[in-house]
Amino acid sequence: MLYNKDQTLYIGNHTTSSKGYAAMAKQMIANGGSTFAFFTRNPRGGRAKEIDPRDVEEYRKLADEHHFGRIVAHAPYTLNACAAKESLREFAREIMEDDLRRMELIPGNYYNFHPGSHVGQGSAAGIMKIGEILNEVLTEEQTTTVLLETMSGKGSEVGGTFQELRGILDLVKRQDKVGICLDTCHVWDGGYDIAENLDGVLEEFGRVIGLEKLKAVHLNDSMNGLGSHKDRHAKIGEGRIGLEALTGVICHPLLQGLPFILETPNDDAGWTREISLLRERYGAFCGGH
Ligand code: FE
Ligand code: FE
Ligand code: ZN
Repeated sequence: MLYNKDQTLYIGNHTTSSKGYAAMAKQMIANGGSTFAFFTRNPRGGRAKEIDPRDVEEYRKLADEHHFGRIVAHAPYTLNACAAKESLREFAREIMEDDLRRMELIPGNYYNFHPGSHVGQGSAAGIMKIGEILNEVLTEEQTTTVLLETMSGKGSEVGGTFQELRGILDLVKRQDKVGICLDTCHVWDGGYDIAENLDGVLEEFGRVIGLEKLKAVHLNDSMNGLGSHKDRHAKIGEGRIGLEALTGVICHPLLQGLPFILETPNDDAGWTREISLLRERYGAFCGGH
């Protein structure tokens, strides 16, 4: 196999940002992680706290010492770039602009968002509106890569298929500023069989979107079956995808070096156990550490 013996597994969990960056890094070090995700503000989209430069400095030292990979900020999930109401799109635009401005204090990381829900306008209209907002908020100077998350196709969600994500990306002028975050629960719920046919799913991703666009993975099990379009996350190994298949994801040669983010229903003790279990399996089955 192509496994790189020196490969490090970048893994961590979605954590609370209420105490700042250094606190998140410390929590992740305690959990055994080397990357993490966090909401840039209240997930429902409230005001963001101003970032303290001393906190960022302390964070950078910790991340450096502990060889962290890139981190994956998450936009509030209420943000809808393809809402029918223009006022809601304006809100999405403002939040993304403000978040991207603040992300520059921690340069070179990822900003992940849910593409949106077309709320009856149809996915073609949704795709167009999302592409339009990306062209408005992305700047030449930014060092952050904005990631569209693969969705489960619940309700009128846009981004439940690789074709829809490709449709959005095709509209973006600044191609070097955009990528994809693959959520294992979402693609499974969306009908992509990563348990029985991960190679085939990644082959399709490569053909439709291009694997160079794949920048991060949300590693979740799913409470529901393949193609259920439900989006209910389960703990690793306690859902329908299963530990075997999720080990296959972290070990896959095409996914080496990506940040793997747990968004499982857990507390820090639970995430610590999941991280150590996955590291153990990574070492045993993929020859990494
Ligand atoms: Fe998400
Ligand atoms: Fe996710
Ligand atoms: Zn989800």
